[in-house]
Amino acid sequence: MRFLVIGSGAREHALVLAASQDPAVTAIACAPGNAGTATLAEPLGVDLTDPAAIAALAEQWRADLVVIGPEVPLVTGAADAVRKAGIPCFGPSAAAARIEGSKAFAKDVMTAAGVPTAHSEVVDNPAHLDAALARFGPTWVVKDDGLAAGKGVVVTTDVEQARKHALMLLDGGHPVVLESFLDGPEASLFCLVDGRTVVPLLPAQDFKRVGDGDSGPNTGGMGAYVPLSWVPDGFVDDVVERIIQPVVDEMAARDSAFTGLLYAGLALTSEGPQVIEFNCRFGDPETQAVLALLRTPIAGLLHATATGTLAEQPELEWADGSAVTVVVAADGYPGKPLVGDVITGGEADGVLHAGTRRRDDGAVVSSGGRVLSVVGTGADLEEARAEAYERIAGVGLAGAHHRTDIAARAARGEVSIPGR
Ligand code: AMP
Repeated sequence: MRFLVIGSGAREHALVLAASQDPAVTAIACAPGNAGTATLAEPLGVDLTDPAAIAALAEQWRADLVVIGPEVPLVTGAADAVRKAGIPCFGPSAAAARIEGSKAFAKDVMTAAGVPTAHSEVVDNPAHLDAALARFGPTWVVKDDGLAAGKGVVVTTDVEQARKHALMLLDGGHPVVLESFLDGPEASLFCLVDGRTVVPLLPAQDFKRVGDGDSGPNTGGMGAYVPLSWVPDGFVDDVVERIIQPVVDEMAARDSAFTGLLYAGLALTSEGPQVIEFNCRFGDPETQAVLALLRTPIAGLLHATATGTLAEQPELEWADGSAVTVVVAADGYPGKPLVGDVITGGEADGVLHAGTRRRDDGAVVSSGGRVLSVVGTGADLEEARAEAYERIAGVGLAGAHHRTDIAARAARGEVSIPGR
C-alpha cells in the first residue's frame, strides 16, 4: 500500500512512523512534512489550503490511501477532492468536518442527537454581550465560533477578561460562543468512524495550558498520556453508546456521514461525561501517545475506515503499559515563536518532529511554535514519564520550553472525577 500523509506536525510524524512499521506499506510520502517525517517518508510539496492540489498530488504519487492530518484541509474539502479522484481517503468531507469547523453546527448536531454538553449561546452583536454574560458564569467560557487551533477559548472567573476576549473576537468579525462551565477532568476519546461503524481507541488526556500546574494561556497542546487509570469501568463503551454513536448516526441522517477520526473532547463531570468539543481529526499531541501503544498495523485499519469496512476488522491490539508525550516549544510560543534556531539530538528514538525543517547546510532548525513532541513508554506512567523527560534532556534548542508536569498528577493517583 502506498501511504500518503498530509500535514506537517508531530501527529503526522507519528502516523508516518506507525506506517513505517506496517509490513503492508510499500511506500510512504508526507506533504509537506518536516525534517523528521523526511527521514521515513518521501517529502512532497503541497498547499494545505488547496483541495485540488492535494488530490492532484495523490494521483500523481499513485497513493492507495491518503490520510489527512490537520483540520484546515478537511474543512476546506481536501477529502472530498481526493475521493472524487477515486482514491480512498481517511478524513471527513467538508460537510462532516463542520463538527469541528463550526461550534454552532456541532451544538446543533449534539442537541438533535441528545448528547450531554454544556449549555451555550451564540452572540454576534456587541450590544447583546453584557446581558448574555450575565446569564453565564462565574466561571465564564468564551469561544471563537470558527477554527482557532485551540487558542480561541478563554476560561475565566473574571467577567472583565471574558468581556474583553468576546469584544476582541466580535471586533474581528467572529461570532462568539458563551458556554456553561464544565467542572471535572478532561479526556480525549478518538474513534475511527467509517460513516456508520465506530471503533474507539484508548482514551487519553492532554494538557492545553502552556505552563506547569495548568498556568498561562491555552496552546495547541503541551503534552498527553495514555491510558487513563482514573476513568470508571465501562467508560469507553458508555461514551460510544451515549455520545459517539448518536452523533455518527445523526450526521449520517443529515447527509454528512463522518469518515475518519472523530475526536470527542470530554469533561468527566459529577453528572457523567459531557462533550466540550468535537474535532474531525487525530488530536495532537494525544496521537503521539496513543499510537505508541497501538499494536494493530495502522494502514489496514485506516484503509478500512476510509472504505466503509471497519465492521470486518479484528479487535484492536494494544501494548501493556503507558505512553507519555511532552511537547518542546519554541521561545515565545504560544505568542510569536522564534524560528530558525538549530536543534540538536532531534534524530533520537522517541523524538517526533513538528515545527522543524532541514536547512540547505543540513542543519535541522525550528520553524514553528511546537517544535518537537518527545514520547516515552514504560510499564506505568512514572516509567513512561521518566523516559520522555530523559529523552528531552538529550535535545538542544536555545530558549525552548516544555512542561515538567505532564501526567504527574495521574502518576500519583491524584486525578479524580468530582463527586466520586
Ligand atoms: P476547545 O477549543 O473548545 O477545545 O476548548 C479548549 C479548552 O478550553 C478545553 O480543552 C477546556 O480545557 C476548556 N473549555 C472549553 N469549554 C469548556 C467548558 N464549557 N467548561 C470548562 N472548560 C472548557
